[in-house]
Amino acid sequence: MKSIIRLLCLFSVSALLILFSEQAIATTVANPDQISSNFYDWAYALTEIIFGLLVIAITLAGYIFYQNRKLKAALSKSQQHEDRLRTLYTAIEQSPVSVVIGGVDAYIRYVNPQFTEVTGYSPTEVIGQNPRMLGSGLTSPAVYQAMWSALSKGTSWSGEFINRRKNGEIYWEQAYISPVYNKAGRITQYVAVKLDITERKRRELHEHSHNQVLELLSKGAPLKTILLAIVRGVEAEYPNMMCSVLLLDKEEKHLLHGAAPSLPEFYNEAINGAEIGLGVGSCGTAAFTGKRVIVADIATHPYWTAYAKLAESAKLGACWSEPIYGSKHKVLGTFAIYHHEQHVPKAEDIRLIEESANLAAIAIERFQATEALRLSEERHRWLAHYDVLTELPNRVLFSDRLKQAMRLSNRYNKKLALMFLDLDKFKPVNDSFGHDIGDLLLKETAKRMQQCVRASDTVCRIGGDEFVILLPDVSDQQSAFQIAEKIRHALNQPFLLAGLELNISCSIGIALYPEHGTDELTLTKNADLAMYRAKENGRNQAQVF
Ligand code: GH3
Ligand code: MG
Repeated sequence: MKSIIRLLCLFSVSALLILFSEQAIATTVANPDQISSNFYDWAYALTEIIFGLLVIAITLAGYIFYQNRKLKAALSKSQQHEDRLRTLYTAIEQSPVSVVIGGVDAYIRYVNPQFTEVTGYSPTEVIGQNPRMLGSGLTSPAVYQAMWSALSKGTSWSGEFINRRKNGEIYWEQAYISPVYNKAGRITQYVAVKLDITERKRRELHEHSHNQVLELLSKGAPLKTILLAIVRGVEAEYPNMMCSVLLLDKEEKHLLHGAAPSLPEFYNEAINGAEIGLGVGSCGTAAFTGKRVIVADIATHPYWTAYAKLAESAKLGACWSEPIYGSKHKVLGTFAIYHHEQHVPKAEDIRLIEESANLAAIAIERFQATEALRLSEERHRWLAHYDVLTELPNRVLFSDRLKQAMRLSNRYNKKLALMFLDLDKFKPVNDSFGHDIGDLLLKETAKRMQQCVRASDTVCRIGGDEFVILLPDVSDQQSAFQIAEKIRHALNQPFLLAGLELNISCSIGIALYPEHGTDELTLTKNADLAMYRAKENGRNQAQVF
């Protein structure tokens, strides 16, 4: 349209020029002094035509020249535009980050070669597909919500996805997604630029879990808590793995449950207590041989024949097990990595399993050392208050109990009885049958004494063949005497020890609180005196002070 207007303008200008020329000639010819003939009319007409044609030719030439220049400029612009598009396309195709272009329906329209490199999917496999085909189920739904909330408002969004490659591997990616608008301001496409950040993410998760385990170790956390932290750390780094720690029992014959939070409960229960041996699954064999066992396909491996059904129910496809070695090169247990599908480990997986087993070893040894220390302290505390041979309270504990009984006696106005008991002619037993038989007799007499009193009473061994019996609640002297007689009769019964029949008797002295002494020293001294009286009176009897 514009061109037509321009052409009309040109013609108008040409017409004006012709009229102007015509006017000039007419003015000249109108002079009566000039030649006036037909020849002149003809010449005038010719001149007019030639002049008009000349003007039209010049105008057309100018117009063509002008249009030509315009066309050239437009062509050059379009060429530049095309070059620019080609450059951008090359940049996207060569890009070390994945580029995915999706329509307004989010379905994939284009992927660059890096996308194929990262995911393993070729363009033909994904074009026309929904990007959720890459999902692993591990990305929080909140991430997708935030993404769609931003995109639906027409703004860009950036966040992390945990996706699954074609080969099943899990990977992390940082995605930057932007809407593309047309001239009318409507969204026509979405462009996603995605960076594979798996390595960085794994490093971060690894450091985090490692630090967490070290912190738990330094805090002296329970072994199960530390083992769980190790297992969970590996599983966070490699979400398609399931890990387990089994501990070798004290007899070094069975594997006990340590930590396996992702394996089914029925599986853990079935494995708990399994005897180690060659061909007893991956862990049983690893603990038995002390060597790493890689079973890439549980269903067909001979080590798993006995457990194939169990593994199938638990949907286990592969199991790699690493023996956990202590600092003294003793197997402490196993660290195992399971997969749902058949799986051959890579060098990176082997490093992971070794490192995890080492960390578990530190935790187990630390626990064992702490446990040994705790038992030793407990033993020391026990030894301070108990007699090793008879396991009865010793003199120290007796003193405590007596004080406590005296306090209670005062408060509730009750009597307590204290008996001193010494075996009669015990030395000859040692001399005749040996010290070991003497020990056995001491143990048995202690048992009989305990059987004669109530649980609230205390029987103590305070020396070689000397015992005290504390009755914190007796009604009177007579009832105390009866209990003494009961004990004496019990000890009078023959003892069958190591094929020998032994007979022993005892002498018992009784003192009552408060009548025979209101303090510990007087009361014990008087019970002792009564016992000596019993000895002097011919032994095998009880005497009240
Ligand atoms: P008595 O009737 O006067 O009490 O004579 P006895 O032979 O029992 O002599 P006494 O009570 O004076 O000596 C206790 C003996 O018990 C002394 C020691 O040989 C023995 N004896 C002390 N402690 C132990 C022990 O732990 N094991 C054994 N087998 N014998 C012990
Ligand atoms: Mg004695």
